[in-house]
Amino acid sequence: MKIALIAHDKKKKDMIELAKKYQNLLNRHELIATGTTGTLLTKETGLPIACYLSGPLGGDQQIGGEIAQGQVGLVIFLRDPMTPQPHEPDISALIRICDVHNIPVATNLGTASLLLSGLNDKLTKC
Ligand code: PGA
Repeated sequence: MKIALIAHDKKKKDMIELAKKYQNLLNRHELIATGTTGTLLTKETGLPIACYLSGPLGGDQQIGGEIAQGQVGLVIFLRDPMTPQPHEPDISALIRICDVHNIPVATNLGTASLLLSGLNDKLTKC
């Protein structure tokens, strides 16, 4: 499954910890990410990640395009609800396209952990 990883700046630390915790699981999937998130994750975890443009430069839209084409199975998007983002329309569009296509999207650490642990359980039972 292709999994998209995106984290706003104040949530990047959380994303790195999440990726380390679920490293074995994530390693079994194809990973894509917005530029800065992906570069940091690769550096911190060694996971192979295809890095798109940085979010504010169009990375969210690139990922949204893949979602619209049915290529993405899960989105982890750790949003910062306390800081205004210059690319707010792109963020709304990304979440909307997930809803249009019924793609699971976690926008906070709690949901992300639940989704990844559920996926982990499912895979270990197979
Ligand atoms: P970034 O983009 O990974 O390039 O920081 C994330 C975002 O703000 O959408």
